[in-house]
Parts: sequence; structure tokens; C-alpha cells
Amino acid sequence: MSEPAASAAGSLLDVNGLLENPVFAGGFGLASLGAALAFARRGALASAGLIRRRLLVNVEISRQDPAYPWILAWLSEPRPQTSFLAKRLTRINKLSVTTATSTTPNGPTQASFFLQPGYGRHIVKYKHAYIAVNREKQSTAKTNTGEPHETLELTTLYAHRHIFEDVFTEARGLALRANEGKTVVYSVRNFDWVPLGIPRRKRPLASVVLDKGVKEDIVNDARDFLARRQWYVDRGIPYRRGYLLYGPPGSGKSSFIQALAGELDYSVAMINLSEIGVTDDKLAFLLTKLPERSIVLLEDADSAFVNRRRRDADGYSGGTVTFSGLLNALDGLSAGEERIAFLTTNHIELLDPALIRPGRVDMMVRIGEATRYQAAQMWDRFYGDVDHDGVNRERFLARLDELGLFRDVVEGANPIRTSTAAIQGLFLFNKNDMEGAINMAEGLIPQKLEA
Ligand code: ADP
Repeated sequence: MSEPAASAAGSLLDVNGLLENPVFAGGFGLASLGAALAFARRGALASAGLIRRRLLVNVEISRQDPAYPWILAWLSEPRPQTSFLAKRLTRINKLSVTTATSTTPNGPTQASFFLQPGYGRHIVKYKHAYIAVNREKQSTAKTNTGEPHETLELTTLYAHRHIFEDVFTEARGLALRANEGKTVVYSVRNFDWVPLGIPRRKRPLASVVLDKGVKEDIVNDARDFLARRQWYVDRGIPYRRGYLLYGPPGSGKSSFIQALAGELDYSVAMINLSEIGVTDDKLAFLLTKLPERSIVLLEDADSAFVNRRRRDADGYSGGTVTFSGLLNALDGLSAGEERIAFLTTNHIELLDPALIRPGRVDMMVRIGEATRYQAAQMWDRFYGDVDHDGVNRERFLARLDELGLFRDVVEGANPIRTSTAAIQGLFLFNKNDMEGAINMAEGLIPQKLEA
């Protein structure tokens, strides 16, 4: 036997010897068992991954997606289960609450609570399929808002993948039904549009009293615009329409926009341009991601012009919107399809003619102090059912004439005017008392304005 072979046999003998050693054999056994388990675990994980990839299908919905709140609301819907297994499996024990408050015009605050599935894993049964839901807060925050990113993941069997279409359709239908007869008003929080309180009951157009024909002109124009999508597409024109409502405060501009949104079945997405923190970039970004079917309302449009002057004068922009920022935002690519924008201002004299261009502002309407026509209409709305022959209405109007309150009568030399908001206030104060309203009409005289 050659030397190396002998030494190999010797080492083999040594191994045998080692294995016969009970301490070593025990350790070796444990180590192999550990290795085998690790191997098996890795194998199990790999096959679980394979099964998951092959047999399961999942959908991830990010918090930024409009479907996110719809699906959360859909998940909170009671879904009575008949089978024992479904009853045990699909109980959502961890809920989170979202509270919305709104203040009614006469004082008390209303609060509504919405219960939604909390963070973590849940199982729901829908039709014939089980769906695993995982609501998660990611550790990475959105860079622009600092808020953690959030996702919802729905998983079901591959064979049941078509159920997702039904889930999304049903969730969307549910969301639409929840807002039926209501107008959702969105405002800006950080870089997102969020509903402002509880959706409000639609404001009837008839409740906003504007001068003769004004309301009809705007409503007809908006309806005409919405019916002309193809006309714009065929001509390659951006499908946008802009309106500028100007006039003193309390003349019904915001109320009218809200009523128009209700009439068209749209929401209102509102930004106040005079607010600090609404910068050019933020405005442009927000206009690209308007909530669907919403009218964008840019309040205090004049502040962009004031800021331009201020900036030209001392280089200060102060984190507010500038004139060019407003124009860029109005011109910018809008992600949605159509866009209806309303700009409001109390100071038309501060605006720049560059704003009046198709797609930016197509229609400018003054919504001013009360006219005789408006005062008469408002009287009828308040007292029409008791003042059948209109005698008291004429007495009231005569009193306003006497006080020289009407813009359309006293235009020019001595413009003592009154707002529709003030007339409404007077009528509200004298709800059941026409005489009181006539006697207190003097209270409508605001401080005398310079001619
Ligand atoms: P603006 O936006 O012009 O400042 P608002 O729409 O905010 O005015 O009106 C303030 C309040 O006065 C609201 O409660 C509204 O109901 C009432 N009001 C003002 N003008 C009118 C009007 N023309 N018709 C009905 N209500 C009005």
C-alpha cells in the first residue's frame, strides 16, 4: 500500500472513531438536523413564494390614489356571512376612526365618525372569494409632505382575480352614492386635496339670487362647455374654461359657485391664493391632480398680482403665489380631462389683462351689490308665502329707494350700497316679521363710500 493511501485510510478510521464518540456524534447529529431544517425552511419559503406568485394575485393601492378612500369605505361595509368559517375569519377586529366636523350656520358643530379597518392584516369574504387585506404605513415618508406613505394590498387566489373589478366598481358606486345630493368641497392640506368636513347638502341654484340673467348666462355657458368635449378634442384645443367673478365681498360669489357645482354634479376644489404657503410650484402641482369632476376655485386671485408688485418692489415673494405662477398653473398640463376654473376677486382693478385669454379666463362677470331686482327676489324667497299681493315688498323697496341704497338707481354720485349678504342678514333677523324688516332697513346703510 502506498503512503498516501495508508494515511487516507488512517484518517477514515479517525472519522469513524470520531463518529463513535458519543459527544461528537450528538453534536454532528444536531448540526445536520439544523442544516436540514434550514434547508427545508428555505425550500418551504421558496415554494411558498412560488405558490404566492403562481396561485395568488394582489393589487396594491397607494394612499394617493383616488380609489384608496373608496376601498377603505367599502371594507367597512357590513357584509353578513352565513358560513361558520367566513364568520370566524372575516371579523375585522382592528378599526381606526376618522372624524369629520362641520359647523352649521346657526352654531352647533356636527361630527361624523367613520370606522375603517385599522393597520394590519384582515380577511374579507366577497361573493365566493376570500380577500386578504393588508393596510400598511411605510417607513418612508413622502418627501414633499413628510407624511408616511400608506398602502392597501388586496390579495386573492389567482382563480378569483376577476373579483377585483367587481370590488372596485362596487366601491366606486358606494362612494358616489354616499355623496348623492351633496357637494364635496376639497381644500388643500400639504400637497393633497382633502375633503373639507362632511359633504354639504347641494345648495339649490334658486337660493342664490343674482342680478337678472347673470346666473342663467354662466350656467348655460358651463353646460355648453361640458357638452362640447369632442369639439375641443377635434380642434386640439385644451378642454378648459375659466370664469372670473369679481365684486365686493358678501355678494354671493362663493355661494353661486357652490350651487353651480351642485347643479352640474361636481365637487369644488378650493385654494385661497392669498394664503401663505401656497407657492407657484404647489399651485401648479395641485392643478395637475384635481379630484375628478371638480370645479377649481381660486379665491382672492388679486393677491397674485399684489405679490408681483411686492416682489418687483423689494424682491420678496414670501412663500406666496406670483402672477407668473398663476398663469403657468392655469396654462399647465392638467392631468384630468376637462377643467373648469373659477377665479374670484374683490379687486378687479388689480388684475392684469394677461389673465383674459381663452382657457385662462373666458368669461368675466361682475357680481356686485344688491340691485332692485335682487332685493325683490330675496323678499319673495323669505316672505312670499305671507306677502301674497306683494304690497309689503313694494313698501320695502320704496324704503330702500328712499335710503338711496340701490346700485342700479344711485350709480354715480353718491354710491351708498348694500350687499345681498346684508339683506339676507336683515331678513334672517326678522324671519317672521315683515314690518320689522322694513323698519330696520336703515341698518343696511354701510359706511358712506367715497365716490
Ligand atoms: P362672496 O363670495 O361674494 O364674498 P358669499 O357667497 O360668501 O359671498 O356670501 C356670504 C353669505 O351671504 C352667504 O351666507 C350667502 O348665503 C349670503 N349671500 C350673499 N349674496 C347672496 C346672494 N346673491 N344670494 C343669496 N345669498 C347670498
